[in-house]
Amino acid sequence: MTVESGTQNVGAQPSRAEARDGFDEITVLWISEGMSCDGDTVSFTAAGQPAVEDLVQGLIPGLPKVNLHNKVLSPSLGGEEFLAPFRAAVRGEMAPFILVIEGSIPNQNIIEGDGYWTSFGNDPETGEPLPLNWWIDRLAPRAWAVVAVGTCATFGGIHAMAGNPTGSMGLADYLGWDFRSQGALPVVNVPGCPIQPENFMETLVWVLYHAAGAAPPPPLDPMLRPQWLFGKTVHEGCDRAAYYEQADFAKDYNSPKCQVKVGCWGPVVNCNVPKHGWMSGIGGCPNVGGVCIGCTMPGFPDAFMPFMDEPAGGSLSATLIRPYGALIRRLRGITNVALNREPKWHHNEPELTSGYDPYWRP
Ligand code: SF4
Ligand code: SF4
Repeated sequence: MTVESGTQNVGAQPSRAEARDGFDEITVLWISEGMSCDGDTVSFTAAGQPAVEDLVQGLIPGLPKVNLHNKVLSPSLGGEEFLAPFRAAVRGEMAPFILVIEGSIPNQNIIEGDGYWTSFGNDPETGEPLPLNWWIDRLAPRAWAVVAVGTCATFGGIHAMAGNPTGSMGLADYLGWDFRSQGALPVVNVPGCPIQPENFMETLVWVLYHAAGAAPPPPLDPMLRPQWLFGKTVHEGCDRAAYYEQADFAKDYNSPKCQVKVGCWGPVVNCNVPKHGWMSGIGGCPNVGGVCIGCTMPGFPDAFMPFMDEPAGGSLSATLIRPYGALIRRLRGITNVALNREPKWHHNEPELTSGYDPYWRP
């Protein structure tokens, strides 16, 4: 494909043959002007495996050259200089690109003609702010892939909870769950409030390998989350799961024991954070004393509130496991004491008492 000078790929949409062969260079246009706190942008800068620096410096073998445009990491001074690649993409003068949306999508229709909920740059002719929805409407159909980063962009998150005035929703709700990008991908959802840094980087790298023609499309679950990241529950990877099995439950947040009775939803939440850790493999909500509040789930936050209360299902399963857990804990305690003794033949006496039997000697 044609790559012109500078940091952008400028030209018409790639042909199907070019897309099949893979791209040498691709642009990532990241808009964090959804309803959000920018926490996902902050979080992904902490990724280490791989780091964003590895990505943009071309240190990952087999990936296309990546031109990343994210406002926090931009070397530009902002304003029109920062907006230039986004405007070029709207005009159809940049391809291929991956569109990353951070933050939930407000319903502009409920206030049509009467302002905007959130905006990104101004209309150069009128000087009026351009709503986020304006950008998504123009960029998503041209994007080679569309990635929703963080729970606000994936499922609506806090801005979309019951009683909200903005009509906020996730990107797939906005574009349609059957949306397909130029690269024939649905919206790729990477939830988390905020995202776990490597969860986003692993997903982006898979999409980039796919763009390079070196990998199949990323496997996604029915909620469009990467299967290999969100296929297991928090409980299945939690450091405290053995306490649960032994019915040894924390009564307050100072305890190292299982936190289900003080509000942990881990047994029914899809998330790999306890296994992955948060940064450099360290941390991960329940591992370090934070109850899981289900932030990667479509029903977050309403379905998990009030956050510090014991989940109803947790109450039932914790009650049912009590007799088994209490018995097993007692038996393991007895065995543990027995196993914490040295064998009686470990001594410095003149007689060998290990049971050694030289039976082949006459
Ligand atoms: S703290 Fe939560 S995730 Fe960990 S074992 Fe207990 S219920 Fe499961
Ligand atoms: S463990 Fe629970 S609260 Fe923590 S990131 Fe995963 S889903 Fe969110």
